[in-house]
Amino acid sequence: NDTSGHEAGDIVLKTISERLKSHVRKNDTIARISGDEFTVLLSDINSYDDASKVTSSIIESFQTPIRLGNTETFVTVSIGISVTPDDSTNMDELIKNADLAMYKAKQDGRNNFRFFCQDMNVEVSRKATVERELRGALENKDFFLLYQPKVLFGEASIVGAEALIRWQYSDNVIKNPDYFIPVSEDTGLIIPIGRWVIKQAISDIRRLLDLCVERIKISVNISPRQIKDSNFVVEIREVFSKVPEFIQYFEFEITENAFIDNQLGNISRLNELRDMGFSISIDDFGTGYSSLSYLKRLPIDTIKIDRAFVQDLPNDKDSAEITNAVIAMSHKLNLAVVAEGVENVEQAQFLEAISCDIAQGFHYGKPMSLENLMEKFLTRVEQFNQ
Ligand code: C2E
Ligand code: CA
Ligand code: CA
Repeated sequence: NDTSGHEAGDIVLKTISERLKSHVRKNDTIARISGDEFTVLLSDINSYDDASKVTSSIIESFQTPIRLGNTETFVTVSIGISVTPDDSTNMDELIKNADLAMYKAKQDGRNNFRFFCQDMNVEVSRKATVERELRGALENKDFFLLYQPKVLFGEASIVGAEALIRWQYSDNVIKNPDYFIPVSEDTGLIIPIGRWVIKQAISDIRRLLDLCVERIKISVNISPRQIKDSNFVVEIREVFSKVPEFIQYFEFEITENAFIDNQLGNISRLNELRDMGFSISIDDFGTGYSSLSYLKRLPIDTIKIDRAFVQDLPNDKDSAEITNAVIAMSHKLNLAVVAEGVENVEQAQFLEAISCDIAQGFHYGKPMSLENLMEKFLTRVEQFNQ
């Protein structure tokens, strides 16, 4: 509807209905239950296998493009299956279970299907618990930031740090982002959490600047869900209008999957941030869809090579070649390169030899409190290279 108009949207729906119809029997039922969701009721099946056969043939039929006037379009399909009486004998519950299985299929990469299983309910209730706890944590401001230093090769001096969030879960339990960032992305809570991170980073930068450091960038992770939010740039503008002199000390790290599917809104928001004076870094480079053509189009300053490549350096030939190529290409495009997850001196030496610009990793320092970062700033960093 958005890109080709409602008429095209109607053609897509009609074509899909026809295809569904041609893959089920006369006594089966097809219903469109919301915008792009259909329910198919297969009656009198003998086994799970019957259901998966029908499902596979439906998925197969989506491989053929849909004609829209002079053009063709592809749509993907994700299917969740629940079976009565095994999964439930209640209609609403069956639909809910099929829905859960459908989300799982979608998460696992589209164009496939999943049967419902009770574990999915366990996962949902875990998520609901974390969500409830997170709302409380936001209210009580139970979060804090750690900073992991970034070190300039050659000079061996700290030029920045990445802000990494932690959750003070109880008196002696601290939760890492893996525990709550995915849930907060799913529920949208990442928006207020991200807001808190930026405010906290601003007040921390103020303290760092008091040390008279002349060169420092604080990197803040921005999840794709945040950049998708049309309010994001408006809020950033508002927050920094009070401290515009701090913009130059900020860098946003965004993973490349925020820009696949050519999400123009996201790219234009990135442009606005860049125009305001923020630095932008592509995080986890090499793990997603890494296309060279989008790199040229994106308003970015830095590429961050993912830990997955760095960890096998220098001996793994593939990792070494990929890293080398990414650095050469980035420099051609005038982008700086940060290697993340540098854990030992061999990796560091290799990266320095192939002209990587900046390093980050346990070899230089684990994520640490602001106080420890400040202390580190005041001491020379040459010790790393001994
Ligand atoms: P990331 O952006 O890739 O951050 C780097 C992660 O690698 C951090 O994990 C860091 O502690 C870890 N790391 C750094 N150096 C090394 C090393 O030498 N070896 C190994 N094995 N690991 C290293 P952490 O802090 O658990 O963060 C995990 C992820 O959570 C981050 O991955 C980022 O995607 C997300 N995250 C963290 N803070 C925020 C935040 O404030 N906002 C958002 N949206 N996401 C955040
Ligand atoms: Ca990051
Ligand atoms: Ca990473």
